[in-house]
Amino acid sequence: MAEFTMDLNDEQKEVRDWLHGFAADVIRPAAAEWDEREETPWPVIQEAAKLGIYSLDFYAQQFFDPSGLGIPMAMEELFWGDAGIALSIVGTGLAAVGVLANGTEEQIGTWVPQMYGDANDVKVAAFCSSEPDAGSDVASMRTRAVYDEAKDEWVLNGTKTWATNGGIANVHVVVASVDAELGSKGHASFIVPPNTPGLSQGQKFKKHGIRASHTAEVVLENVRVPGSCLLGGKDKLDERLARAREKAKKGGERVKNAAMATFEASRPAVGAMAVGTARAAYEEALEYAKTREQFGRPIIDNQGVAFQLADMRTQIDAARLLVWRASWMATTGKKFENAEGSMSKLFASETAKKVTAQAIQILGGNGFTREYPVERMHRDAAIYTIFEGTSEIQRLVIARTLSGLPIR
Ligand SMILES: Cc1cc2nc3c(=O)[nH]c(=O)nc-3n(C[C@H](O)[C@H](O)[C@H](O)COP(=O)(O)OP(=O)(O)OC[C@H]3O[C@@H](n4cnc5c(N)ncnc54)[C@H](O)[C@@H]3O)c2cc1C
Repeated sequence: MAEFTMDLNDEQKEVRDWLHGFAADVIRPAAAEWDEREETPWPVIQEAAKLGIYSLDFYAQQFFDPSGLGIPMAMEELFWGDAGIALSIVGTGLAAVGVLANGTEEQIGTWVPQMYGDANDVKVAAFCSSEPDAGSDVASMRTRAVYDEAKDEWVLNGTKTWATNGGIANVHVVVASVDAELGSKGHASFIVPPNTPGLSQGQKFKKHGIRASHTAEVVLENVRVPGSCLLGGKDKLDERLARAREKAKKGGERVKNAAMATFEASRPAVGAMAVGTARAAYEEALEYAKTREQFGRPIIDNQGVAFQLADMRTQIDAARLLVWRASWMATTGKKFENAEGSMSKLFASETAKKVTAQAIQILGGNGFTREYPVERMHRDAAIYTIFEGTSEIQRLVIARTLSGLPIR
């Protein structure tokens, strides 16, 4: 098992520098344009695909890096470039992970390549769990999947919302309830293959930040998918449901909220995205403070400015440490006994919001305009305390884990 280390090896440094080059040369220069257009940056995704950055192979390589630092390092560099474009590049990964985590080998082999397409014809995928009335409270999900035994098909009905790439995806992964009484234990994930009748895009949201990333409702009206699209297969689902019903009957099992627990292991990756945005804003602010002169000297000569930069950098480094620790723990199979995954996401996302706001302050009037990137970074940073579990939900997970009490 790899010991925790902050020292990247030569290979990791090479990957980091390569990603940084792509972020600096391709992503950053395109950021303002796609933010204004509020559209998926297909040409940038295609460029990433040509270089092998937009591919399952690349993510698998980072994911299986035994040090645990591959994914956080990659996320930090891409999101340093721009959060909206980077989410367009890594958003497919959310759906791919859903299949990798729950699917059979055959399902992985069939569907994951269709999520990415190829460099000449790039595709994206969407992971659809949230609903208008089921955000943090995933257990109250209303989308239903009913098995039609005669045809060996599942019939999906419901409305998903805030789905990254929803409606424009080639492959949608949809979480639906197959037994409402079991709460989130009665949920199952389904592949909805390309061009399946009944799936349509609802409202496309106009957003505060990460505007280059497409976010929309996904409407499911009598969507029929073959039995083979149930991730993990029917036998496994039946066994899991039987166990959950047995436990529910005994009354011993408190049905957990999936949003609170299931994604604990994936949260450090979101923390790393936040570190990337925070670092980008800090670097802009540092450079500006050194060159902007008022009262005949650079503004960084004032402790009031320099100390802000000192705090910003300290918090970013602390956030990265928490993220790397949690990611190393997840990779090496160490249990999050103190909700370390949630801690890393909570601290990094709050840091990104704070640091990007401070960056605007340091840039003064310029910071408030779209001539400089920090106002976009500040708008983008607001997402980190919301998706993959809000900051309040992270605190709930941490507090419950530490106390062992059902804190509400
Ligand atoms: C840009 C974007 C992209 C997204 N992408 C996806 C995606 O690809 N797939 C997907 O399935 N979902 C996605 N989401 C949805 C996201 O995960 C949810 O928005 C998030 O889980 C919060 O749910 P909610 O918005 O319904 O907020 P709510 O759950 O309604 O929460 C509202 C407020 O109440 C607080 N709150 C709620 N419950 C408690 C509690 N018990 N204690 C204390 N405070 C509480 C919350 O912290 C928050 O401040 C995305 C959202 C956005 C904005």
